Amino acid sequence: TSVQTRHALETRALDHLWMHSNDLEWDDLQEGGLRVFSRGHGSTLIDVHGAEYIDGLAGLFVVAAGHGRTEIGEAMARQAGEIAYTAASNAANPVNIALAEKISSLTPGDLNRVFLCSGGSEAVESAMKIAKQVQVMRGHGKRYKIIARRGSYHGTTFGAASLTGSASEKYFGPFMPGVSKVPNPNQYRNDFGLDGEAGDIMCARFIEQEILAQGPENVAAVIGEPISVANGTHLPSPIYWQMLRDICDRYGVLLIMDEVITGWGRTGKWFAAEHYGVVPDIMTMAKGLSSGYAPVAAVAVRSSIFDDFRPTGQALNHLITFGGHAVAAAAALKNIEILERENLVQRSAEMGTYLYDLAQKLRSHPTVGDVRGGLGLLCAIDFVKNKDTREAWGTSHPFIKFLALRTQEEGLVTRVWDVLHLAPPFVLTRDEAERAIDIVDRCLTEAE
Ligand code: PLP
Repeated sequence: TSVQTRHALETRALDHLWMHSNDLEWDDLQEGGLRVFSRGHGSTLIDVHGAEYIDGLAGLFVVAAGHGRTEIGEAMARQAGEIAYTAASNAANPVNIALAEKISSLTPGDLNRVFLCSGGSEAVESAMKIAKQVQVMRGHGKRYKIIARRGSYHGTTFGAASLTGSASEKYFGPFMPGVSKVPNPNQYRNDFGLDGEAGDIMCARFIEQEILAQGPENVAAVIGEPISVANGTHLPSPIYWQMLRDICDRYGVLLIMDEVITGWGRTGKWFAAEHYGVVPDIMTMAKGLSSGYAPVAAVAVRSSIFDDFRPTGQALNHLITFGGHAVAAAAALKNIEILERENLVQRSAEMGTYLYDLAQKLRSHPTVGDVRGGLGLLCAIDFVKNKDTREAWGTSHPFIKFLALRTQEEGLVTRVWDVLHLAPPFVLTRDEAERAIDIVDRCLTEAE
């Protein structure tokens, strides 16, 4: 889209919408970088000019079931006609009960108590507060510290941002006290110069050292994404999560797994925790839970944590007005029904392997250092200035910016930070997977 042929909706967007934290600069948006999508079906997005794109990122790791699911809208309309809203603090409704049951049945282990909310950041805030309050309920009132990881992303609200690796201290600091950040598994550029599993083991040991350094009697929880997309989609070895589980148990520290991206089939299983054979104490989820048809998120908590509130007679001191919203719950339930009916989690696993295998051919480019993924539709292509030094370009480098804009012009919507992420809807076809990789291939050749 050139500036000359700008659609009226693009002009209005540029005039009034405040785009959220964005990779493109204002000039890029002005010069055609801003797309207005007015329709979608499956993995296809259609902009106001009628041009079609492959949604290579399912929005933002969200639209698992694909675009254009009228059936979800119909379930929401029916629910709105029955009852749209009840207050989460003093009532329930049939659909939020059903959703809590469904989440309990699909999450691993005894994650059987469900706190409903509206977004990933809210889920993380809630998880953190549940962890802190249960420590108090257990008589460990001093345990307020949280250990998080560098390079991680947990959200944008103040608590969640405090846990995030790269939160912008420059604009918003100082953040919440009592948070320490430890190394994140990274087998490609390891903090300790160790290859493979050894680096992951060192990262796990680091967490134990941090608990000891802070004093176990002061630490409430450890939080991490099972696979950290923000950190570049490095798949930790299973031993990493198994060690974390053991370490947390040893010191009475709660383990929070943030499955906001990885949950609901993104990694080819309902939850990424299943790949690691680990049940966290608290699990956060959002995005794919409703495939984005409504803002819904949840915190699934082990029964033992809820049980520790009971003898105290104290409620969880945390209330969110829109938590358990009936129309949102109806959207999530219908989405889960579709994922089950169409075996889409299995499809994510199969298409994930297909896409990952195709992406390997990009390694022949001098600028592609690594292609990671292979668990579900979660693939990352890591760009380097030099394959030997593995030096990254940096997100604002013209090479990265060129790729971000050119792939979009060529019909692939994705996101390029230091790495290019591919996480399309699970309904992606083989043809779309091939076209997506071809576009990246061509744009890379142009950029080089
Ligand atoms: N946690 C993780 C792992 C995420 O990836 C995100 C968002 O990308 C969040 C939390 C925050 O979710 P939201 O943007 O819905 O508040």
